[in-house]
Amino acid sequence: MSTAACPLVALIGRPNVGKSTLFNRMTRSRDAIVDPTPGVTRDRHYGQASWEERAFMLVDTGGIEDDDSDNFSGHIRQQAMQAMDEADIIILLLDGRQGVMPGDHELVELLRRTEKTVFFAVNKIDSPNIENELLAPFWELGVEQLWALSADHSYGFNTLMDALAENLGQTEAPPPLPENTIRLAFLGRPNVGKSSMINAITGQERMIVSEVAGTTRDAVDTMLTADKHNYLLIDTAGIRRKGKTQDKLEKFSILKALKSLSRCDIAAVLIDAEEGITEQDTKVIGYTQEQGRALMLLINKWDLIEGDKKRQEQLLEAVEEAVKFIPFAPVFRVSAKTGAGIKRLFPELGKMHRQFHQRFSTAALNRLLEDAKAQHEPPMYQGRRLKLYYTAQISTAPPTFAVISNYPKGIHFSYQRYLANRFREGLGLDRVPLRLFFRERSGRDK
Ligand code: GDP
Ligand code: GDP
Repeated sequence: MSTAACPLVALIGRPNVGKSTLFNRMTRSRDAIVDPTPGVTRDRHYGQASWEERAFMLVDTGGIEDDDSDNFSGHIRQQAMQAMDEADIIILLLDGRQGVMPGDHELVELLRRTEKTVFFAVNKIDSPNIENELLAPFWELGVEQLWALSADHSYGFNTLMDALAENLGQTEAPPPLPENTIRLAFLGRPNVGKSSMINAITGQERMIVSEVAGTTRDAVDTMLTADKHNYLLIDTAGIRRKGKTQDKLEKFSILKALKSLSRCDIAAVLIDAEEGITEQDTKVIGYTQEQGRALMLLINKWDLIEGDKKRQEQLLEAVEEAVKFIPFAPVFRVSAKTGAGIKRLFPELGKMHRQFHQRFSTAALNRLLEDAKAQHEPPMYQGRRLKLYYTAQISTAPPTFAVISNYPKGIHFSYQRYLANRFREGLGLDRVPLRLFFRERSGRDK
């Protein structure tokens, strides 16, 4: 089982160069996954992809990072900077039909400063016989290699993906952590109290704090040992904090959040008690579930509304509403300032972590499946009888199961949901997400 962070590949480029077309081609998924958590907003700008057994997270930064600057070059520059900070590999997509555009030189110049691998891909080269002609002007950008591509017609696609996969194999693996380390990432808007929270936690009694040698270049991780448990605290705000100037607020960065999420078991999303829950908070909560992370909500700065019962009620209601589809996520009222509520987090983290990594015997899982079928047969599909042959756990973190069927596509969503809920109850997974895959029997099984 791999708990290593999933590498992040960022797609950048001007509008209309074909980023979403390429994105869709790269993330085309094969399996139907059921995440029994409905109502999470699906963002089509990032997703899981894989090539040659190498999995990665693809992010279309152009679609995802909104920027206040109203000029294009400012916007794309911003994308590039974010990608250089957070991504493992960058693909700059250029438009072969438009040719070199003003600003491309500067952008390439900027990207050459990073030590990370950058693929300079020229899109809309729809066939080999126009490749030379369309590619030629781009050599003046002075890059060593250009990748001719047609995101639409797939010309050059396999070649690019092969090279990408090979590069992914070389991305630095994170240093090993002590066994059973609970990896906890703090997420939330700027100023919600993420770093104060980490300080408050490390300041608790009987905490042994150590720096983590050589964790990823730009993250500030804190390793903590308490009551024989190891915790890795990941501050999403990262290193910028160190040189934090008085009130210069950093921008919320979705790339940063995704990167932290890929490295954690449990996401602690902080909500500001005084400001209440915002759309961005809800979005981040959605991301944690799309990523299949365990989730805990921390309503921070509770001290500020301590005396205001009405405000407390309103807030708790709003939070409840935001996580109504994620009933397994515990909610805590805390104050990083006074330390209130922080002790109570630890036993909860332990339980969440255990469930997140729990393994179940195949025999027990199949008894559960038999019971579920006995109580409620899958409905017929277009006159066909649906069979669920057996089930097995295919991974942990989060617990993920495959259910093998004669016709997976015919299993109605409500029945999939029913099974997911039966699994949740039967396995006692009351604190973490779980996933079911529905699959056909492979030739070998038949
Ligand atoms: P984005 O704004 O960068 O995400 O660009 P889109 O993916 O939305 O594509 C912009 C336009 O370019 C659309 O009309 C696409 O159909 C077209 N397009 C994308 N890839 C190709 C390609 O490989 N060849 C051609 N001829 N058109 C493409
Ligand atoms: P970050 O940007 O999310 O890391 O937020 P910081 O940890 O830098 O905190 C932002 C501001 O909120 C600082 O001025 C903190 O002192 C303040 N703050 C953080 N937690 C609390 C809290 O629980 N109560 C109060 N009253 N203020 C807090």
